[in-house]
Amino acid sequence: MAFKNMQDLLIEELRDIYHAEKQMEKALPKLAKASLSDELRQCFETHREQTRGQIERLEQVFEKLDTRTRGKRCEAMEGLIDEAREIMEMGLPPEMLDAALIGAAQKAEHYEIASYGTVHAFAAAMGLQEVADLLQQTLDEEKETDRLLNDLAVNNINKKAIQAGGQSKAA
Ligand code: FE
Ligand code: FE
Ligand code: FE
Repeated sequence: MAFKNMQDLLIEELRDIYHAEKQMEKALPKLAKASLSDELRQCFETHREQTRGQIERLEQVFEKLDTRTRGKRCEAMEGLIDEAREIMEMGLPPEMLDAALIGAAQKAEHYEIASYGTVHAFAAAMGLQEVADLLQQTLDEEKETDRLLNDLAVNNINKKAIQAGGQSKAA
């Protein structure tokens, strides 16, 4: 594809995010299954449902841009999901695994926040208000998910992980 203008670049970025979301849709049930905490599992399950809606929203965006719905391999999300898989294979005590899963999931959410932030800003600058509004809705969901994960870690799960791991004495 020849990139002549910002619309071409916007579409290319959207195809990357579309593939990233498809990967997240597959990975989130695995994260949910690996979770010990009911709240954490619920958070992953809820975000999986949101992710399906986000995929549909991107399909609406492609339609509004009069282009075919198509993904383009997102190697960044592949890498982040590979790292989450490695964490699940480390044989961690379940409480520590929860803390590590939150970290892995937040890395993926931060990638999505950066990506949606960019395409939202592109669309807004180009005057594509309907597209910008759709992307803003997803951006808000990704930020909210990141906040929920952070609250779970800080208010609850990190303490349990420290107790389960046996904290080394401070020097
Ligand atoms: Fe997403
Ligand atoms: Fe990407
Ligand atoms: Fe997300």
